[in-house]
Amino acid sequence: MTTGRVVFVGAGPGAADLVTLRGARWLSEADVVLFDALTDPALRDFAPQARWIDVGKRGFSHATAQAAIDALLVRCARANRVVVRLKGGDPSVFGRLEEELEALARHGIECEVVPGVTAALAAAAATRRPLTRRGSGRSVSLTTAMTREGQLNGSRAADTEVFYMAGRQLGRLGRRLLACGWPDDTAVSVVSRAGWPDELASDHRLGELAQASMLHGGRPTVVVVGAGARAIAAAPSAIAAGQAGLAGAAT
Ligand code: SAH
Repeated sequence: MTTGRVVFVGAGPGAADLVTLRGARWLSEADVVLFDALTDPALRDFAPQARWIDVGKRGFSHATAQAAIDALLVRCARANRVVVRLKGGDPSVFGRLEEELEALARHGIECEVVPGVTAALAAAAATRRPLTRRGSGRSVSLTTAMTREGQLNGSRAADTEVFYMAGRQLGRLGRRLLACGWPDDTAVSVVSRAGWPDELASDHRLGELAQASMLHGGRPTVVVVGAGARAIAAAPSAIAAGQAGLAGAAT
């Protein structure tokens, strides 16, 4: 049998209907699906014919575990026509895609990447807070709050900073960002399980970020800092319509 291809599919951040049509089409053609922990079990409905293999216990990130996944991908590609590697959010954002692409390239295995909705975008949608703002939000940075060595990572490189993998360290992240020069009253929007039916969002000032731990502890969480965290002012037309409604009710 000739070697098959591996298609990396971004599952999106939560509910199954956030996967792309292209991703769903590849799922429907898959012989095997290797999936991560943060992907919705309802995605199985797109590929009932496939063998589903769980490779993504949370925190499954040390080097040997990744090497085992790389080897499994190669083995699966050799024995099947279409292998889907399903990753939470977008495969290209904090998804260990580099290692897996390299492993496949070393063995000459064909691959394709189908993008998905990354958690930062789902958080922006959940809170209706655009990450870019005309005039004040011209750049967005996606940063991991934790380095591979377990160091906390803070920065002030863009007008809007979105921190991934910060859920357990919110108080420390807040102090770190103050030390990077962000003012104490900077707007921070914290969103956990964005895109899922039980998503939660809360607003904070940077100086009080530690308070968010109570609400979001133990859940996949992104922290949006700066321009993109600010609430949108109520649109004047909406206010006018509301007033007209009130006036109408009074007469
Ligand atoms: N490839 C993924 C990110 C994987 S790293 C993506 O593009 O979204 C895992 C981190 O992503 C978590 O620690 C958390 O910070 C973030 N994350 C994943 N899903 C999330 C969700 N539904 N809501 C909020 N944050 C999420």
